[in-house]
Amino acid sequence: MTDAAAPSRNKVISNPYIHRLQRRHFLLFDIAPIIGTVAALALLPVLPFGATEIALLAGMWLVSGLGITVGYHRLFTHRTFRATPFAESMLAITGSMAGQGGVVSWVAIHRRHHEFSDRDGDPHSPNLSGDGLRGVLRGLVHSHFLWMRRHEYPNIAHYAPDLLRNRRLVNVSRHYYWWFALGVAVPTVVGGLVHLSWQGALAGLLWGGFVRVFLLEHIIWAINSFLHRWGSKPYESRENSRNGAVFSLLTFGESWHNNHHAFPSSPNFGLQWYRPDPGYWLIRGLSAVGLVSDLKNPAAEQIAAKRIRTDERKAAA
Ligand SMILES: [Zn+2]
Ligand SMILES: [Zn+2]
Repeated sequence: MTDAAAPSRNKVISNPYIHRLQRRHFLLFDIAPIIGTVAALALLPVLPFGATEIALLAGMWLVSGLGITVGYHRLFTHRTFRATPFAESMLAITGSMAGQGGVVSWVAIHRRHHEFSDRDGDPHSPNLSGDGLRGVLRGLVHSHFLWMRRHEYPNIAHYAPDLLRNRRLVNVSRHYYWWFALGVAVPTVVGGLVHLSWQGALAGLLWGGFVRVFLLEHIIWAINSFLHRWGSKPYESRENSRNGAVFSLLTFGESWHNNHHAFPSSPNFGLQWYRPDPGYWLIRGLSAVGLVSDLKNPAAEQIAAKRIRTDERKAAA
């Protein structure tokens, strides 16, 4: 039997073809938005920039960001609730617009992150690059950004068999590039129509496309990098995940990252009413109109049981 015939038993796949695809994705979706953002700033004096561009940036940022946290993360990776086929497809499509890979690959990588968090095998831990300031900086850059250039690809047959059985979802995932293109085309066309000019279209492309992708990526990546290093840790979990309360609105609730590692099957990352979690607000809204159901919130006693007492936290600090 050749190697190619037996990959379904392997947990990760590493070969030149996969690494070529990773490099291409990195250049197109991670480097290009940086260039586009610089271009948007450089062209400010000659292109329109006003309410339209800000609305396109904010609107597309909301749509694609909620697609990632509610769809890619809370629904498809962790199955924290159930969704109708229509809601499933919409969440997968809007998540694809973020440019963070097709849903099946994203889920496989993230499930591997939970399996090996902050240990060998974690695709993006900031804590495995050595000690001292140099190690800290190398770990941060790796976990934030550079790991995507080239990494062991988690075998989707091992990590996401449930998704592979869903033919509709596999179909959405296969067309990832087209959904991403749609997410860039919409602000371009709207910008062009509002200003009735090519300059308007270009401004829509830059602000609703490149700048929006750039900002969303770095906000989401900061969870992988900074929030596995600094922040508060109210709940017991075996890895070094932390909460960053001040970023909760900006990250759609993703910055309750310690809560999430402690209770990965909870759709509510905030866990308590006083911790704002916009992703969960959307889930509640979708539930109210019948598009999602079966929210697997942990019981108050389960949450209390994992709570680290303040004196223990002080002792650990
Ligand atoms: Zn997760
Ligand atoms: Zn994590």
